[in-house]
Amino acid sequence: MEDFEFTCWRCGETNIVKGRPKGFWTTTHYELPGEWDCWSCGALNTTPDD
Ligand SMILES: [Zn+2]
Repeated sequence: MEDFEFTCWRCGETNIVKGRPKGFWTTTHYELPGEWDCWSCGALNTTPDD
């Protein structure tokens, strides 16, 4: 698992989103949840596509 940082669109707080490697041999592409809730304000954020 890899940690990615995203900024909440509403309050600007930094959120840590866990990414799961897409393939066993691949370490550069991670599968991230499409949506996550901000820990600070609870706003629903969407993960930008890569
Ligand atoms: Zn927020």
